Amino acid sequence: MGIEREQLEADVLIVGAGPAGLSCALQLANLIKKHNASGGKPELSAENIYVLEKGREIGAHQLSGAIMNPKALAELVPDFEKAAPLDTPVTDSAALLFTKNSTMRFPITPPPFQNTGNYVISLSKVTKWLGGLVEAAGVNVFKEFGGAELVYEGDGISGVITEDKGVDKNGKPKDNFTPGYELRGKVTVLAEGTRGSLTKKLVSAKKLDNINPQSYGIGIKELWDVQPGRIQPGYVAHTLGWPVPVSIYGGGWIYGLSNNRVSIGLVVALEYADPQFDPHAAFQTWKTHPFVKKLLDGGKLVRYGAKSLPYGGWYAVPRTYVDGGLIIGDSGGFLDSQRLKGIHLAIKSGMLAAETIFEALKSGDTSSKTLSAFPKKVEQSYIKKELWQVRNFHQSFQHGMLRGFFHAAFQQVTGGRGLIDPMRAHPGHEAYKKINGRVAPERFKGDGQLTFDRLTDVYHSGTRHEEDQPCHLRIADTNICSTKCVVEYGNPCQYFCPAAVYEMVKESVGPPKLKINASNCVHCKTCDIADPFQVIDWVVPEGGGGPNYEGM
Ligand SMILES: Cc1cc2nc3c(=O)[nH]c(=O)nc-3n(C[C@H](O)[C@H](O)[C@H](O)COP(=O)(O)OP(=O)(O)OC[C@H]3O[C@@H](n4cnc5c(N)ncnc54)[C@H](O)[C@@H]3O)c2cc1C
Ligand code: SF4
Repeated sequence: MGIEREQLEADVLIVGAGPAGLSCALQLANLIKKHNASGGKPELSAENIYVLEKGREIGAHQLSGAIMNPKALAELVPDFEKAAPLDTPVTDSAALLFTKNSTMRFPITPPPFQNTGNYVISLSKVTKWLGGLVEAAGVNVFKEFGGAELVYEGDGISGVITEDKGVDKNGKPKDNFTPGYELRGKVTVLAEGTRGSLTKKLVSAKKLDNINPQSYGIGIKELWDVQPGRIQPGYVAHTLGWPVPVSIYGGGWIYGLSNNRVSIGLVVALEYADPQFDPHAAFQTWKTHPFVKKLLDGGKLVRYGAKSLPYGGWYAVPRTYVDGGLIIGDSGGFLDSQRLKGIHLAIKSGMLAAETIFEALKSGDTSSKTLSAFPKKVEQSYIKKELWQVRNFHQSFQHGMLRGFFHAAFQQVTGGRGLIDPMRAHPGHEAYKKINGRVAPERFKGDGQLTFDRLTDVYHSGTRHEEDQPCHLRIADTNICSTKCVVEYGNPCQYFCPAAVYEMVKESVGPPKLKINASNCVHCKTCDIADPFQVIDWVVPEGGGGPNYEGM
């Protein structure tokens, strides 16, 4: 269908207003300000930087733990401690080993779990604040706009097309139809976070993959208000063991915020063998451990959410530059999976991208030759230093916790090299074993006080979407779901989706059919990653749709 689209030209187009995209915008605006003030030529303008965000507000789609290492933010905003909504400094870092009924605190907290000098924050709040600085610097921030398609040009990219608004579920224009814009940028920066929908397409189209495919985890989180005195602000604990089986890489967290608020969650790697494993149910079960139960008793669930995170490390970072384009933050895989930290690396990668783009704009050359300065800057920065030390870490755990700890011990004493370097990884969805007729497990119901079913949790995510729009979960072949997947893997989408989007509905005759409750989606991207047949393509829904992670 030939749609006439309004074209807008920017110098720089940043897709995604998370820590990476906003830091890129702010650093670039700051560099432009100094350049113009000193009479630099050509004169540049921060108004020619456009940032797109699919959420209804900046921060609405931000979900993280979160403990932030402040070093990158200190470089970007030197007086951040005075102005940023940092909740509380870390006061105690504990590593806990859970069995079903007992808790053992490690006498010495292993280095990856030590967090002295870091802050417990709400990433949603910090991002919102950063967004304010970006707007005040003159950058154009467009909320409720998703980058739906890339504009390819030659060997690279030259912009994006935003999603069409006002299209009904059958793809027909409604009265309020507004075609998406064609936004052109001399440089387009993909800062979409984990499993970016445009990034995925670019990496595949231009064959940008590194030697390892990206691996992912999923984190399920709840914010609670607890009884006074139950948690000290700044207390952080990471738990290992029960109820996560030893064959699965994962663990829980408890982070104390101010005002008796606590962030709790569980992360597991999306490369487990049992297709009926249910990360949401595992998290709910984890809350029944005596240590967690005592903390939450008498408290109240405030908010719920889930998000995937890129675990693959240095050997899974794709090529991050093409003609007219850069990939930063989680979209580039800049996350330390050993420490579960990506915020400061996202900020730093955004800043380094800004410095690269600034030089490119001044020289008038935004080809891949000039933009290849970005990965060089990354190599010379602490991003490489931090990721290099754990370059084989996550791969070691692809066969479970025990083998992982064995390898990790060698890596610890050899600066990350370990016994095999580089250690190769396989895509997580290839790990599923067939169910061989095993009956479906009973779904987790919850008691409604301490534990919840998925629909109750989804309600607390604040997610909403326009109902009458094309489904943003595109299934290439639904026959596979009803014929092959149901028999071989028991439709894992019903279990890994933390928002009850996928249901296999029994028919009076014939095999069950897939029903998609798309408006429940919390944009975690797990289905795009973990589907065994790789037939699910997550695309941006109408802008403004999705969760409301205020305070998360
Ligand atoms: C459960 C969990 C716990 C974590 N805990 C920690 C922690 O304690 N400490 C730490 O340092 N890190 C932690 N991380 C990692 C950290 O949150 C990320 O590394 C960081 O948020 C990455 O920033 P980003 O800007 O690259 O991506 P994001 O923060 O994901 O931001 C991307 C933004 O782009 C938007 N977007 C995506 N696609 C499009 C599109 N096509 N068009 C328009 N907008 C789009 C999204 O809505 C989002 O706002 C955790 C992550 C998870 C999931
Ligand atoms: S539909 Fe996919 S992206 Fe949406 S919540 Fe479920 S698993 Fe996550």
